[in-house]
Amino acid sequence: MLDINLITLSFQEPRLERSFRASYGRRFHSQTLLAMALALLLFCLFGLLDWLLYPDLVQQLWTIRYIFTCLPLLGILLLLSGRYYWRYGEPLMALALLIGNLAVVAMTVVIPAEMNDVYVAGLMLIALFGYTVARMRFIWATLSTWAGLLAYNVANILWGDASNWDLIAGNFFCVTTNIMGMVASYSMEYDSRRGFILQQQLRRERQRLGLLNRELQEVNRQLEKQALTDELTGLANRRSFFERLQEEWRRAQRKQEALAVIMIDVDHFKAVNDRFGHQAGDLCLQQLAQVMREHGRRAGETVARLGGEEFAMLLPATDVNRACEIAEDLRRDIAGLDVSLPHSPGKLAVHPTVSCGVASLVPDEYLAPEYLLFLADQALYEAKDAGRNRVGCSRPPPLEKGQLA
Ligand code: GH3
Ligand code: MG
Ligand code: MG
Repeated sequence: MLDINLITLSFQEPRLERSFRASYGRRFHSQTLLAMALALLLFCLFGLLDWLLYPDLVQQLWTIRYIFTCLPLLGILLLLSGRYYWRYGEPLMALALLIGNLAVVAMTVVIPAEMNDVYVAGLMLIALFGYTVARMRFIWATLSTWAGLLAYNVANILWGDASNWDLIAGNFFCVTTNIMGMVASYSMEYDSRRGFILQQQLRRERQRLGLLNRELQEVNRQLEKQALTDELTGLANRRSFFERLQEEWRRAQRKQEALAVIMIDVDHFKAVNDRFGHQAGDLCLQQLAQVMREHGRRAGETVARLGGEEFAMLLPATDVNRACEIAEDLRRDIAGLDVSLPHSPGKLAVHPTVSCGVASLVPDEYLAPEYLLFLADQALYEAKDAGRNRVGCSRPPPLEKGQLA
């Protein structure tokens, strides 16, 4: 049920009513103009009937029809086709309807009463036009049509020679037409208003959905980011590292460039945990991660935490010598690092060191990325074996083709 005034059909909320009228006006602008132009043309053509039925009265009838009616109606049509439509469209249309009615009423007074029926049919046609084709709002169509009917009665009683029975018969037809017209106009406008409200709800719903969608996309982005990020250090996680490795491997194979990996493992980290506690260990890992991040900032480079106290760096377009230099820089920077543990008793400082294993190769169709990791792991193992806090570089002899296939 719409929140409307049941007689005028206006929405109770003024802002809603204003926006409805603006939208209604836009929707029916062309239809109203076209209907009125057509009605005016037909009204002019009806002059032929004046001439056929009443050759003696044609001068008076045509004066009423063309001078007093068509001219003002043409003026109104011109006004309506311009900007006046948007401000005064409804009263202008109602005025046009009233002028049409008054013209027919005047003619019923002029012609002999026994022929009134023909012109009363004219009143009915005008009512039909106002209630339906012109798409006037219900209240305006009703007011102007009933005013026309009132004028018909007053004029015929005061100046016409129609008998009471003639008038009663005329009223019968006109009142019936008016009532049917009112029902049609009322239900059409009611439907338009309901459609308008539905459209607004739909628009609001769409906006809400759009908003929801954007929020959902944001959450998705966050989730995706989280899925690829290590929670403790903010570096890439293991999954992200392996995805990047596959990508960079393919790229390096296409470009026939070297792809390097540095495996990094913190030395004696268990001891750090045992001595200072797990929380202090975490803090230590975060600070180490920060140093590593600074050593792998070039485009395409990835620094990842593979798990526990093991990290890895992926360096595209880097041969083994350059990768070993980078690893050595990193090892040195970390060895010089004082990881202060604010909450530990006596403000103890940890001096962590790392061992690195470096490998680099130019991918080809006989190799898989796992082989690169295997070489780097081996080099790391050797570095650990050799006493830790050092870089092991893998320089294997070139493989025979098909050896690994
Ligand atoms: P190595 O020099 O041979 O690498 O000795 P290590 O003690 O570092 O190696 P090991 O693999 O024996 O121990 C790794 C330790 O790292 C075990 C565990 O206490 C610690 N660790 C693993 N993950 C985490 C973590 O997320 N936070 C903290 N604080 N410690 C971790
Ligand atoms: Mg380890
Ligand atoms: Mg370790």
